[in-house]
Amino acid sequence: MKAYRGRIAPTPTGLLHLGHAQTFWIASQLARQAGGQLLLRIENLDPQRCREAFISAAIEDLAWLGIEWDEGPDRGGPCAPYIQSQRIERYRKLLGRLQTAGLAYPCRCSRKDVREAATAPHDKGDEPVYPGTCRPAPGQAAVFDVETAPHVNWRFHVSDGEVVSFEDGRFGQQSFVAGDDFGDFVLWRHDDVPSYQLAVVADDHDMGITEVVRGADLLKCTARQLLIYDALGWKAPAFHHCPLVKDDSGQRLAKRNHALSLQAMRESGASPAAIRSRFIE
Ligand code: GLU
Repeated sequence: MKAYRGRIAPTPTGLLHLGHAQTFWIASQLARQAGGQLLLRIENLDPQRCREAFISAAIEDLAWLGIEWDEGPDRGGPCAPYIQSQRIERYRKLLGRLQTAGLAYPCRCSRKDVREAATAPHDKGDEPVYPGTCRPAPGQAAVFDVETAPHVNWRFHVSDGEVVSFEDGRFGQQSFVAGDDFGDFVLWRHDDVPSYQLAVVADDHDMGITEVVRGADLLKCTARQLLIYDALGWKAPAFHHCPLVKDDSGQRLAKRNHALSLQAMRESGASPAAIRSRFIE
């Protein structure tokens, strides 16, 4: 059996909150229990929203909480493989493979177009199923000339009706139907930013991750990502999704809940142990 390799992967668009703390704590415990390695990866692909200051804040919060990682920023050695913005060319190459395989197509629709054209209701926090406006017929070229429209999104062409199942380490058997639970999703954005779905699969594969531990809000993303693993001929890791932490009004925590940021809790005198005692698992 391959030695356990896990990862914690914050996106530096805000301060870490109690929900991140819980997920990252669980990830570190699972890695430790398995006698494996844990790496820290910074998911800073979106230049509009990511900030350097949130990278250092996350590193400080994680260390304060008592989470130790073996590879990645602040652990000596080169950090390059663990900073997503430094791996764009790797992601571009993989997009090329999916294009060549006929699994990626260009799309001119804006988010607003997709929202307005969507017929079925969609989960809060998830994107609507893509209505197929730019989707070519099987085996056909793009529905418009890409040369004349260079700023396009590239979408993954899902096979409608395909059932994507996996056994989750926390929530058990999961099943989603492509084209129904989720549609053709973006692999590459029109502003030349790789999508989370593509980058995370590339990284988890390249970094030899054996188990992905992350929040339950990403369960459906796992189904999308399994299609990418399949398309690239890669074996997928195991998955363990963590329960989401809610605030007092029952809403899922977001980065805007500053009162529940680790930094604010720390400044108001909370100890790491007090924070850990609030975890669900
Ligand atoms: N970067 C994502 C986040 O901060 C986590 C993605 C993942 O673990 O796959 O929510």
